[in-house]
Amino acid sequence: MTGSIIRLDNLTVAYDRHPAVHHVNGVIAPGSLTAIAGPNGAGKSTLLKTIIGELRPAEGSVQHQLKRTEFGYLPQAAEINRRFPISVFDTVLLGAWSRSGAFGSVSKADRERAREALQTVGLEGFEKRSIGALSAGQFQRVLFARLLLQDAKVILLDEPFTAIDARTTRDLIDIVGTWHGDGRTVIAVLHDFDQVRSHFPQTLLLARELVSWGPTEEALSPANLLKARAMAERWDEDAETCQPADRKTARPAA
Ligand code: ADP
Ligand code: MG
Repeated sequence: MTGSIIRLDNLTVAYDRHPAVHHVNGVIAPGSLTAIAGPNGAGKSTLLKTIIGELRPAEGSVQHQLKRTEFGYLPQAAEINRRFPISVFDTVLLGAWSRSGAFGSVSKADRERAREALQTVGLEGFEKRSIGALSAGQFQRVLFARLLLQDAKVILLDEPFTAIDARTTRDLIDIVGTWHGDGRTVIAVLHDFDQVRSHFPQTLLLARELVSWGPTEEALSPANLLKARAMAERWDEDAETCQPADRKTARPAA
C-alpha cells in the first residue's frame, strides 16, 4: 500500500499537561484496515479522538485532507448515553446528518437507506423500538447501521466488540470486511488478539508511546507484547510514587 490518508507527526496529546500519547509518528494508508492494541490506559481512545479532531495535540499534528463528516466514529460503549428516548430508526437516521444538516429534513432516499442498513445489520422490524430496550449486541448493530448510512471514508471504532455476544461480533466483523472491500479506511481499537490476527492486516501497538506499527504478525510479536506490558507496568509504578495513598485526588471517570 502506498500513500497516506492520515499522517501522525510527532503526535503528543495531554490531559492537564500529563501526556497520554507521546511522540507518535506514522501513516495510515488509504483503504487500510488497522487495529490499535495496547494495555488499559495506553492512550488508544485518546488517539482516536485526536484523529477525528475532538482533542487537540499538545505537540505535533494529525495531518489529513478530510472533512469532519468524512470520519465515521463509534465511541467506546461507556461514553454513549442510551437513556435518551429515541427510536432505533431515528438513531440510524442520525447517520444522514452530514447530508441533511442538523435541522434539515431527511430525504426519502435516506429513509430508504436507513431501512436497508437495519436489514443489513439484522434488525429489520426493530425500527420503532426505543434504543433503551435493546441488548448490548442489538444496540451495537444499530450503531453500525448508523455508520452504514453515514457512508464515511474513514471509520474509527473504539472497542466495538467488547461485551458483545459472539454472533453479533461475527456479523459486525463481516460488515468491517465489507467496508474494507469498498476501499474505506478502517481503524479499530481491539482487545482480542485472535480477532486482530484473523481480520486486521495492520496493527498499531500503543503503550503511551508507539511500541510497534506495521503488519500484524510483526507488530504483535512476543517481544513487542512484552515490551508493551513492561511499559504499562512502569507507568503504574510511577503513578504510585506520584500519588501516595493519603494524597490521592479524585480523577475523572475514564
Ligand atoms: P485507553 O483507551 O488505551 O484505555 P485512554 O486514551 O482512555 O486509554 O486514556 C489514556 C490516559 O489518559 C489514561 O491514563 C487516562 O486515565 C487518561 N485520560 C483519559 N481521558 C481523560 C480525561 N478526560 N481527563 C484526564 N485524563 C484522561
Ligand atoms: Mg479506551
